[in-house]
Amino acid sequence: MSAAPAASPSATASPAAAAPAPKVTKGVVDQTAQTIIFCYHRLVEKVRYPGTEITLAAFEAEMKELKDRGITVVGMQDLLAWKRSEKNIPPRCAVISFDDGWKSQYDVAWPIMKKFGYPFTMFIYTEGVRGGMLGGGEAITWEQLADMRDNGVDIQAHTATHQDLREGHKIFVPSLGGKRTPKNLHGPEYEQWLQNEVVGCKQLLEQRLGIKVNCFAVPYGTYNEHVKEVARNAGYEAMFTVYGQPITYTSPLDSLGRYAIEANKPKVFADAVKMISTSAGGGPAVAEVGNANLSTQPADGETVRTALPLIKANLSAMGAIDPGSVQMRVSGLGVVPVSYDPKTGTVAYQVTQKLRDKTCTVILSAKSEGKKIEAHWTFGIDESGAAASAPSATPTPKKK
Ligand SMILES: [Zn+2]
Repeated sequence: MSAAPAASPSATASPAAAAPAPKVTKGVVDQTAQTIIFCYHRLVEKVRYPGTEITLAAFEAEMKELKDRGITVVGMQDLLAWKRSEKNIPPRCAVISFDDGWKSQYDVAWPIMKKFGYPFTMFIYTEGVRGGMLGGGEAITWEQLADMRDNGVDIQAHTATHQDLREGHKIFVPSLGGKRTPKNLHGPEYEQWLQNEVVGCKQLLEQRLGIKVNCFAVPYGTYNEHVKEVARNAGYEAMFTVYGQPITYTSPLDSLGRYAIEANKPKVFADAVKMISTSAGGGPAVAEVGNANLSTQPADGETVRTALPLIKANLSAMGAIDPGSVQMRVSGLGVVPVSYDPKTGTVAYQVTQKLRDKTCTVILSAKSEGKKIEAHWTFGIDESGAAASAPSATPTPKKK
């Protein structure tokens, strides 16, 4: 009952192949941005294996929390493009990844991700796909992966058989029918096995799905210099562990830590989010200020018709502001040169470089009586309305 692999991928060209990547001049990206990467496994109704499961309600709440906290979910390829200085990312980002290739990631997680408009990455071990030697009834199928690929989901490598890759560890050689024979592989035998796990997996994903694979999630996060070298030679640009940490501009690409989310450890998510919420300022305590007190323009949640908005806020309710401490960050742009009028308390910045994303997050910080205060808000951008509508003036909601 094995599914025969397709002899060759379909000959039709991918429509996405020619899309030009938005480029910025090297060095212009915001090097202070930070990203947390999450790793999820199965989504279930009721948790039986807390180490790799989470309820869909808990998952959805976490996705919402990222949004509420102004943490932008970006795609893995955007994160890597930023590390190459090719593309900007917002100041605080998250990347979502799903490991191992479970059916529930297709059936349950994907619809939720669509609802939020979040991009994500699937890390697949190829023998675990349905029809493979380790792919049971709960495994994702190649057809489902192809469907995800066609809809822009990033699909990446997680070995062939999901084992500790270091030489000297007992290796289970799987065979069709689920029998697993433990073996100790050494020398050339080990190298051949390792090649298949690291290189063979990449080649199979690329051939079967017609994609480019440049990311490698190391099973259990256990590897060594030799494994890294084999992966680097195979053409992997980035390698991932499960030792979560905020990813910065200088984080080494061969050990990017992901936060593995488990049902019985909700603190991992909370800590990750806290890490990125507070570390950006670098200073001691930061008082979060509600944006409603600042009469922001555009307002939080508002959608504007231009990619070149005037961004304004009023700090007069914040007490004595140190004029030199006022700083504004705009997602996609980084720190922008604001004007601040101490008399009126007005901070303003006229965007001069078109905002590229559909949403824009602004983070405003300043020092007031020695304490750092910070506010953030997010507005939407929809230029299509402006182009389609008659030239009559669009009423701009003026908030006082
Ligand atoms: Zn895994």
